[in-house]
Amino acid sequence: MELEIPAEDYSLDESLAPSFVSSLYVKKRDGLWTKVVGCLSGQLEFIQSKPSVVIVRSKASVDEEELWRIAIQQTGLWRGSFERMTKDLPPGLREAADGLARAHPGVRIPIAPTDFTHILTAVALSKRADYPNLVLRWCERLWRRFQGDLGNIVSSSPEELRDIGTSYQLFDMVKTLKAFLDIPKGLDRLPKELLKKLPPFKEPVEGFLLKVGPDVTRLILLNLCFGLGPKTTDSLILSTFEGGLRFIPCDSHFRTVTTRLGLLEAKGTELPQKAFCKRYACDRLTSSCLSISECPRSNSCLRSRFLTLGDLGAWFQTLTYLQGREYCRRVRPYCERCPLARICEFGNVYLKARRKT
Ligand code: SF4
Ligand code: SF4
Repeated sequence: MELEIPAEDYSLDESLAPSFVSSLYVKKRDGLWTKVVGCLSGQLEFIQSKPSVVIVRSKASVDEEELWRIAIQQTGLWRGSFERMTKDLPPGLREAADGLARAHPGVRIPIAPTDFTHILTAVALSKRADYPNLVLRWCERLWRRFQGDLGNIVSSSPEELRDIGTSYQLFDMVKTLKAFLDIPKGLDRLPKELLKKLPPFKEPVEGFLLKVGPDVTRLILLNLCFGLGPKTTDSLILSTFEGGLRFIPCDSHFRTVTTRLGLLEAKGTELPQKAFCKRYACDRLTSSCLSISECPRSNSCLRSRFLTLGDLGAWFQTLTYLQGREYCRRVRPYCERCPLARICEFGNVYLKARRKT
């Protein structure tokens, strides 16, 4: 079956490459991605050979509606162009968002709820590990060695894992997957108010989490899943839930770029802390929906400071990730060729200082 999805203002490569969904695919060449694990593994291909359309090819016996749904989710085309939605942002934030969007055009947010456990595996591996160079390499070996089967990965021997790599992230990832499968046994350890709101548990775990929604899932994972912190949990949620676009994984690129663009004070803003994220809600609305207290750190926390982005949050954070990798390195940023130099005071001060030396 072949489908054509309209794709205005869209880049398949720029959308998939920074997303954890890319761990499910192999990029054969620019504009051609083939699925290698999970749902429709080996039977799904995305091709963008002209700007405004994505071709979806599949040999699977799946009906057209289902194929369309999976394809728009995993390409990111389930949402319209974020670039056109910045007009309601506060002025400074809007200028930064528009500048970043011009520098990194066509980015959307792919999601793969049907491949929740594979995304969890990739996310668990990403702690202090470079995504394109390490995580993707480990994932490719894991999918090949264990046929991408979570049960096979969880029951693998240390020798089998050492064939994939010797880094601690691989061994921690297995502990994370085991803890994930044990979530039903630990539900009664959750805050009482939250427990009252949960529906009866039904297998599989990922189906249950997708049903209870992203805010409750965040609390469950942070309380019961070994090895997941605020950043990895938010990464998992934004890659698997349609309601996950406001879940910003606060990484170093996000903090560096937003600070340098003058959106934050250089001092006084802190990264989310797991001990607080396990017990509190970031904002008043979530607090009243879940009947748990609002976080006492919400005024100083990086994540809560950017909740005003709403559904633009994950997109904006992805742009800062791309910006951080390409130009805004923590040490010796490439301000001289950065497309945002015109609006970046830090960059101008930095360039003047360099010219003097
Ligand atoms: S405001 Fe509190 S609960 Fe929210 S991310 Fe920050 S530390 Fe976590
Ligand atoms: S001008 Fe320099 S500091 Fe500013 S965003 Fe660009 S690379 Fe970063």
